[in-house]
Amino acid sequence: MTVTLITGANKGIGYETARQLLELGHTVYIGARDTERGEKAAAELGARFVQLDVTDEASVRSALATIDAAEGRLDVLIHNAGVLETTLDGPAALRSFDTNAVSIVRVTEAALPLLRRSSNANVVTVSSSAGSFWAVNNPERPEFNLPLALYSASKSAATMLTVHYAKSQPGIKFNAVEPGTTATDMTAAFGIGRPAEQSARVIVGLAVLDESGPSGTFQDEAGHLPW
Ligand code: NAP
Repeated sequence: MTVTLITGANKGIGYETARQLLELGHTVYIGARDTERGEKAAAELGARFVQLDVTDEASVRSALATIDAAEGRLDVLIHNAGVLETTLDGPAALRSFDTNAVSIVRVTEAALPLLRRSSNANVVTVSSSAGSFWAVNNPERPEFNLPLALYSASKSAATMLTVHYAKSQPGIKFNAVEPGTTATDMTAAFGIGRPAEQSARVIVGLAVLDESGPSGTFQDEAGHLPW
């Protein structure tokens, strides 16, 4: 049985990814910062719940300790929790980078001992094409006109951290993914996006890679995405 942890999985793309991986037979831990929302989501899906605020060291350590005690390992880690700040000031920058980028370090470091006990350890970072320097500088791409400096910059950092982890942890796959523009609470103000079910499929594609799968890539559903 594959043991999978998804951060920020109480709603949106993370919730749908959990649903699809449960269908594939994974033991899924829904990480959510809010116990009520997380327990409700886990009960609906038939998943397990761990309280996990990706900005809180103690919460992250406790969540991984819970999984360690129950499973003794972690096979798949999906960094999905994220925020999109539309204001541009110091506090919003700290929140953006803490949730979207620093959390990658916080959760990965806590998970590494468990991932090293897996025979097919696999980490998927839900990043964004808004963090691609190529897309943001390409007038043909929608990201060119996206005035989301903090979201973009924090997702660039998330992608870069994924690349560095892929290099420093050769026994573990680390890939970053752009799931596709999706109608969730994050994008509700813009009124854009496709159903989460479709975007979750892109994440699931990376979450089910076998031992010979790639590491250190940045992909969307069409394949490799330029940095
Ligand atoms: P969403 O519906 O707003 O879901 C975001 C999730 O992250 C929620 O479960 C939220 O929990 C959780 N979260 C936020 N801060 C957290 C924290 N400190 N600790 C733990 N969980 C936290 O947005 P979504 O569209 O599904 O986004 C999921 C991921 O996809 C994000 O990383 C996003 O950047 C990425 N993405 C989305 C799109 C898109 O078009 N929607 C495109 C590219 C990439 P609460 O319910 O407690 O707030």
